[in-house]
Amino acid sequence: MTRRPIFAANWKMNLESSDIDKFMEDIVPVANNTSAEVVIFPPSVYLAQVAKAAGSKIRVGSQNHYWEKPGAFTGEISVNMVKDCGATYALAGHSERRHIFNESAEIVTRKAGVAQKEGLLPMICVGETLEEREAGETLDVLRSDIICSLRDVEANADVVIAYEPVWAIGTGLTCPPDKAQEAIGYIRSQLRELWGDVADEIRILYGGSVKPGNIAELMACQDIDGGLIGGASLKADSFAAIIENGTK
Ligand code: PEP
Repeated sequence: MTRRPIFAANWKMNLESSDIDKFMEDIVPVANNTSAEVVIFPPSVYLAQVAKAAGSKIRVGSQNHYWEKPGAFTGEISVNMVKDCGATYALAGHSERRHIFNESAEIVTRKAGVAQKEGLLPMICVGETLEEREAGETLDVLRSDIICSLRDVEANADVVIAYEPVWAIGTGLTCPPDKAQEAIGYIRSQLRELWGDVADEIRILYGGSVKPGNIAELMACQDIDGGLIGGASLKADSFAAIIENGTK
């Protein structure tokens, strides 16, 4: 089973309009030149700007959205709004949303389910904290994250999962490739239990301090289908090097 790799940039609350123009100018030729799928998750206020500059080889996604239909929800944005700005992906369950903004498993699956229902591709993040890993609970956490996050999501090859050990996000600590493979292989086995053979088509990404220097050994693992990249995606040259080194 060949699964097309994805390299996804999660800019979080970084970059502004003028940085984005330059970044897009530099990354579009790289995206045009790779067989991998390139996705950018900008801050929502820049979705339309990124989508406009993206061209046909870069896809754009929202970092966050609310599940309700338009209405009196001050500060929130709907799925239709992000679609209207050119998004085709929607992130759900990022550890910063779960831990800083207290988003529960129930919220994660509602967001992912509504995104899918309205035609966006959900990219759902799961992963254990350091305490959970040290307590030997990693696989239990992943099993529970997968079951709970997919409760409102229909079995479909277009769902993307990102395994992001919380202790590796933004810390410079990368999960050793054999441990990342073990976790991601386990996630695929859980997807197979839930959804059957479609599990073999689902892309599962690794996220957590991915850099140009470590992406190749991660991509060499059987079940790792790409990367969700935070810090190293903020500069076009390092994101480009990750795409290039990851698709060799
Ligand atoms: C992320 O934001 O999903 C992430 C993995 O960040 P970083 O690459 O900076 O660890």
